[in-house]
Amino acid sequence: MFPVSFEYLKVHSAEEALAALQQHGGDARVLAGGQSLIPAMRYRLARPAFLVDIGGIQDMNTLHEQDGHLHFGATLRDATVEFTPWIAERYSLLADVSRVVADPIVRHMGTVLGSICHNDPSGDWTAAALASRALITVHGADGAREVGIDDFLIDAFTTSVQDGELAVSLRLPTPNAHTQGSYQKIERKVGDYATCAAAVQLTLDENGLISAAGVAITAAATTAIRVAKAEAMLIGQRPSLHLLHEAAMEASLLSTPVADARGSVAYKKDMARVLVLRGLKQSLERLNAGVLELGATA
Ligand SMILES: Cc1cc2nc3c(=O)[nH]c(=O)nc-3n(C[C@H](O)[C@H](O)[C@H](O)COP(=O)(O)OP(=O)(O)OC[C@H]3O[C@@H](n4cnc5c(N)ncnc54)[C@H](O)[C@@H]3O)c2cc1C
Repeated sequence: MFPVSFEYLKVHSAEEALAALQQHGGDARVLAGGQSLIPAMRYRLARPAFLVDIGGIQDMNTLHEQDGHLHFGATLRDATVEFTPWIAERYSLLADVSRVVADPIVRHMGTVLGSICHNDPSGDWTAAALASRALITVHGADGAREVGIDDFLIDAFTTSVQDGELAVSLRLPTPNAHTQGSYQKIERKVGDYATCAAAVQLTLDENGLISAAGVAITAAATTAIRVAKAEAMLIGQRPSLHLLHEAAMEASLLSTPVADARGSVAYKKDMARVLVLRGLKQSLERLNAGVLELGATA
C-alpha cells in the first residue's frame, strides 16, 4: 500500500525543524530514521500531511559524556551506539541493547531518540531508558523542558511530546566503576521485536551491597514498565540468589502482556521473571560479584 500524499521538508537545524512543526501543528510529524513512521504511513496507520525530516541535522548526531551524564542527540543512530568502543566498555546495558534492536540495516537508519519517541510497547530502548533513569529534553514554543523517562512514556505510541514540539536530546547518568547492566531479550527470530525483554542495571557499594537498581521490562504492558518493587527490594541488600528470585518475581506479577503469535499471557509473564533474573545475574557477573553460586539456568 502507498501512504496518503504528504508534503516533505528536509531541515538542517533544530530551529528550522521547530519552526516547521509549529507552523503545521497537528498535521506535521517528525521524521528521524523513518524505520517506524514510514511503515506506519505505508499501512496508513499514520497519515501526516507534512513530514519534517530531521535525519540530516549533523549537530544533533552526537554521543558524548559531560557533567556526569551520557548525552544522545536526536539524530544519533543505533549503529553508532553499537560500534562505539567506549560504550561497549563502560555502558554494558546500552551496548547489549544496541546489538539486538531489529537488524543491522534498521540499526543504521533508526535513531535511539526516535525509538523512544515512537514508544512501541515492544521497543527495546524504552526499557533501557527506564533502567538507566534517562531524561529527555523537549523544545517547543515555550522553550525547553526536561522530562524524566517515567513521565515521558504516556501510553502505547504516545509520549509527552506535544504537537509543535521536538525531542532534541536524551541524557542518562554515567555509571560509576561499580555499575553494570544487562539486556535480556527473547525473540522468535533474529531481527524480530521482543516476545519479552528485561533491562537491568545494578550498582554495588564498597561493602558489596546494592546501592542503586534499575529494572524494567518490555513487551509486558502498553509501554515498557519500571519494576519499582523489584528495585526497592534490591537496594541496600547483599545480593543472594533468594533475593534475585524474589525481585524477578515482581516483574511477573506486574506485567500485563497480551496473547499473540509470540506467546500466551502465562508464557510472557513467566518470561518477564526469567529475563529479569538472568539480567540481575549477568549484571552481578559483570561486576565480578563472586557472592553468588549462579545457576546455569533461570
Ligand atoms: C523490520 C523492522 C524491525 C524492527 N525491530 C525492532 C526491534 O526489534 N526493536 C525495536 O526497538 N525497534 C524495532 N524496530 C523499530 C526501529 O528501531 C525504529 O528505528 C525505531 O522504533 C524508530 O526510530 P526512527 O529514528 O526510525 O524513528 P521514526 O520512524 O522516524 O519516527 C518514529 C516516531 O517518533 C517520532 N519522532 C522521531 N524522532 C522524534 C523527535 N526527535 N522528536 C519528536 N518526535 C520524534 C516520529 O514523528 C514518529 O512518530 C524495527 C523496525 C523495522 C522496520
